[in-house]
Amino acid sequence: ITFKDFNLIEALQEGLDAMGFETPTPIQQQAIPVILSGKDLIATAQTGTGKTAAFILPILHHIVSRQVQGVNALILAPTRELAIQIDQQIQGLAYFLGISSIPIYGGGDGVTWDQQKKALQMGAEIIVATPGRLIALLQGGKINLESLRYLILDEADRMMDMGFSEDLLTIVNYLPTKRQTLLFSATMPPKIRKFSKQILVDPAEISI
Ligand code: AMP
Repeated sequence: ITFKDFNLIEALQEGLDAMGFETPTPIQQQAIPVILSGKDLIATAQTGTGKTAAFILPILHHIVSRQVQGVNALILAPTRELAIQIDQQIQGLAYFLGISSIPIYGGGDGVTWDQQKKALQMGAEIIVATPGRLIALLQGGKINLESLRYLILDEADRMMDMGFSEDLLTIVNYLPTKRQTLLFSATMPPKIRKFSKQILVDPAEISI
């Protein structure tokens, strides 16, 4: 199997070539067709398996086809380091697409915060955020998520362990209910399953 088998738009194929991704990893082989089909997904996968590109590629494909302005996708991650990594992978894969993403996280200095606000005002199709900072922006009315169609929770087990469960539910309350939701986690304990039932609808399930 090659990336060509997914029939992704040509500009994404160019991004894959530029990044040097030739063969889809097992999680990519399994997750990409499911996400392209529009289903919700619960995926158990460790870091290093290629899980990030597994959700970025089909989401970028959807966003380009959808042609709706505003924030199309929200990716939530436990730490600023992970948010930055995800954002960088989006920048790489989306290079030929004319789609932009911004990382939003707390703990930065004033300049960083100003830059984040400026980037938000300029408009981005994808936001990669840590939960605490995003809630502050939502409660301050600083982000409009009416156009959102895709929600991705990355490293959900770590977000729960860090005490973000309530924050995640608060954020979900700001989102349109007509959306596709993807949950990625390294482990799948009962509390994550229970949590996923609150925000996913009839999800497909993958374990690597
Ligand atoms: P992740 O598990 O998403 O943190 O990805 C681990 C690393 O694998 C990242 O540095 C990616 O750039 C890289 N990667 C992801 N998918 C592929 C692929 N299909 N071929 C080669 N490298 C990949």
